[in-house]
Amino acid sequence: MTMIQAITCDTDICIALYVGQPGQVPELIRLGAQRVGWDVDRLDGPHRCPSCHRNGESVLEAGECPACRGRTTTLRHGEACQYCGHVLPPLPDELDDEDPTDD
Ligand SMILES: [Zn+2]
Ligand SMILES: [Zn+2]
Repeated sequence: MTMIQAITCDTDICIALYVGQPGQVPELIRLGAQRVGWDVDRLDGPHRCPSCHRNGESVLEAGECPACRGRTTTLRHGEACQYCGHVLPPLPDELDDEDPTDD
């Protein structure tokens, strides 16, 4: 069974979560979290998600954001996290939806 490590935000009401890749060592997960904006400098915490760290706003609604698991908003090209601002590229099959040749 593969252990997947995750980092949670230590703000009481915040539900932010950063999930590492299966099999990744904790140190790599910590670096990955740092890269997307987490404040995880102190090993024993408190840890802050990108949104709490940068904006002082807690993540209250869960969604698809790979950086904080926050809710995302659909943009013209892809999606952006409402909380940390992380941008998700559009899925390939969504690109096929548009048909500019329709005349
Ligand atoms: Zn947070
Ligand atoms: Zn986010």
